[in-house]
Amino acid sequence: MIYTITPNPAIDRIVYLEGDLTPEKNNITKERYVDLGGKPTHVSAILEQLGDTPNRATGFSGELNKAELVSIFDKYHMNHEFINIPDQRTRESIIVINNSGGSYMITERGLKVSDSDKAKLYSYIKENIHSEDIAVVGKPAQGFSVEDFRYLIRLLKEQNAYVACDVAGEYLTVAIEEKIDFIKPNKHEMNDLFPGDEPIHQKFNRICEKVPNAVCSLGSEGALYKVENTFYQAVPPKVEVQSDTGAGDAFVTGYIYGVANGYDISDRVKWGILCSASKVQHYSSCQINKEDFNFIENNLKIHEVI
Ligand code: ATP
Ligand code: MG
Ligand code: MG
Repeated sequence: MIYTITPNPAIDRIVYLEGDLTPEKNNITKERYVDLGGKPTHVSAILEQLGDTPNRATGFSGELNKAELVSIFDKYHMNHEFINIPDQRTRESIIVINNSGGSYMITERGLKVSDSDKAKLYSYIKENIHSEDIAVVGKPAQGFSVEDFRYLIRLLKEQNAYVACDVAGEYLTVAIEEKIDFIKPNKHEMNDLFPGDEPIHQKFNRICEKVPNAVCSLGSEGALYKVENTFYQAVPPKVEVQSDTGAGDAFVTGYIYGVANGYDISDRVKWGILCSASKVQHYSSCQINKEDFNFIENNLKIHEVI
């Protein structure tokens, strides 16, 4: 079973404007829709679209607007079991998209979890997540410190699960220190971790010393990975991009799908590219279309990085 653990999910309200956002003006909307926010939930939604991969989304959710969150989960046919936080709302994010491109994101800090909420999550993990399971962990909610995050990773490893996460900054540092099984920093997250003008694959190699199968994603330039002592870059073909929000989560989904199916690193990366280069061709942050895969696979280029 693949468990995605989202401590701070979000309801995203995406608003397309007829013009560009202007102060002191009535900005008229062209279109609006509601989508899923909070990274690991995207992984569950995309796994459902891939099919044949038992998975369950868990984490914390606010009781006050739970019905709306569940209605979005249901839209993606997700299997979910979230721990209720009484008297709180799951955060909402407003994403305003200008007609001429560019966007604004306005978000809330989200759930504040107590020690007893955390204890419920830890018990859930102890009861449900075991060896053969995969856990994809997201960035913590308020009240969940960096050291709590370290504890969460250790707990999942004690349960013998394969542990992956897609986090940045100090959480990424903890994930590396704890020798998590899989991380996928993008190039900005890598540069924040290792400032300086060393080539990216050398920075990446410092991560590989602790997390041998890590991947560094490079946006439209694809992804960097290491097999034995050689670095490779897998580059997707040029596609028509509708939105790259969630591209990273789609990559993680494809990679984890490969782990669940016993694929080697090159095939895991290939599945990461298939899912993410499909995702960018769709507006929703967790929409892929398997019909996009053939074109991507047939035009995917892999080269050595020296
Ligand atoms: P997120 O915003 O979801 O956190 P990220 O910044 O972590 O994403 P990126 O490195 O931007 O992740 O992208 C992840 C993957 O998505 C890339 O490895 C690539 O396969 C695919 N991708 C991103 N942008 C494009 C694009 N313009 N064309 C094709 N594929 C893309
Ligand atoms: Mg990016
Ligand atoms: Mg990312």
